[in-house]
Amino acid sequence: MFTLIELPYAQDALQPVISRETLAFHHGKHLQTYVDNLNRLIAGTELEDLPLEDIVRRSQGGVFNNAGQILNHEMYFTQFAPAKENNHPVGSIAKAIDETFGSFDNFKSEFEKAGTGLFGSGWVWLSADRDGRLVITQEPNAGNPLTKGLRPLLTMDVWEHAYYLDYQNRRAAHLAALRAIINWQEIERRYVVSC
Ligand code: MN
Repeated sequence: MFTLIELPYAQDALQPVISRETLAFHHGKHLQTYVDNLNRLIAGTELEDLPLEDIVRRSQGGVFNNAGQILNHEMYFTQFAPAKENNHPVGSIAKAIDETFGSFDNFKSEFEKAGTGLFGSGWVWLSADRDGRLVITQEPNAGNPLTKGLRPLLTMDVWEHAYYLDYQNRRAAHLAALRAIINWQEIERRYVVSC
């Protein structure tokens, strides 16, 4: 039985980048629906007692869509913190970003280009491969790069429900605004754990 994760910050803590209203719907309504759907779909099946990541790895169709959306949103909501000026990565993830993308500015531009260019609903991801090298991928709908053997580190939700109340059709502006609220210490923790 899965339950809705608690947000690690107050519902208005990410304003003005993400409004309290968007968080209330996105976390309290959209994510709650995925949790309810998955619980209903796996009740009484062999998947019932598996960890979420294992369900994502071995399912398709409705189970995959709802389990993937829970995992993706849990990673998404726990990667943010109140806005900071000049927000930037720290530690070994900062070094890996410089090595892979040349500079943090270049990474931001490539990551946001991938998010803006993803047609329809989905997610853009920064992941590490088995050797700790970084890669940016686009995943449609509920996709998660762990199904490709990658370790997901950072993600941007480009479903319209993530930004439409605050930014309407301006997806690129929304993605650029998210730079200020990424909790790079959390991304560093995920990177170090996954190496
Ligand atoms: Mn979403």
